Amino acid sequence: MIKRCQNEECGKSFTPARRDAKFCSDRCRGQANARRVREAAAPSPAVNVSALAASDARLEAIEARLESAARMMETRLDALERAVKATQTETSQALKAATEEQGRARDTAHKSVRDLGRRLDGLETTVTEMKASRGAMREQRQINERLTALETRLNEVVVAVNTQHGLIQQLDTLVGDLVDPPDEPKKRKR
Ligand SMILES: [Zn+2]
Repeated sequence: MIKRCQNEECGKSFTPARRDAKFCSDRCRGQANARRVREAAAPSPAVNVSALAASDARLEAIEARLESAARMMETRLDALERAVKATQTETSQALKAATEEQGRARDTAHKSVRDLGRRLDGLETTVTEMKASRGAMREQRQINERLTALETRLNEVVVAVNTQHGLIQQLDTLVGDLVDPPDEPKKRKR
């Protein structure tokens, strides 16, 4: 019986001494086994590069959403400041009484905006820390778990920011109406 040597670098035909022999010689068996060990130990570099690129893309997406949430917060704070200034410029007693309720709502909104700002700052710090420590993190799984946790927290904050946006817009409209009432009082919102 003639077989072909399974060592890729040899491939010679040989007559095996045993039925299950795969290689023509001990030397060829050694070479083939060494090659198999080498190939199993070295991970494909393409896989690592694409996994790293994927985590980069997720971090960039998180940063972009953080930036847009921060911009929304700024817009909201501007609206809040306008509302505060509008009530401060008014001195009439009747208007003071009418704006008391709005004043309380405004204080609550202001505190809530500050809390959201702190949560956004916390997320920004986490992203920065993660970028710094990513090289030290050995497992892609670990990086992905932290990215997912970060995305979950960001989603919570964005929902809270959006809720706050509606409240502050209502407040802005209410204070605006008090300071500069619409022409037809009947159409005024309560
Ligand atoms: Zn051989």
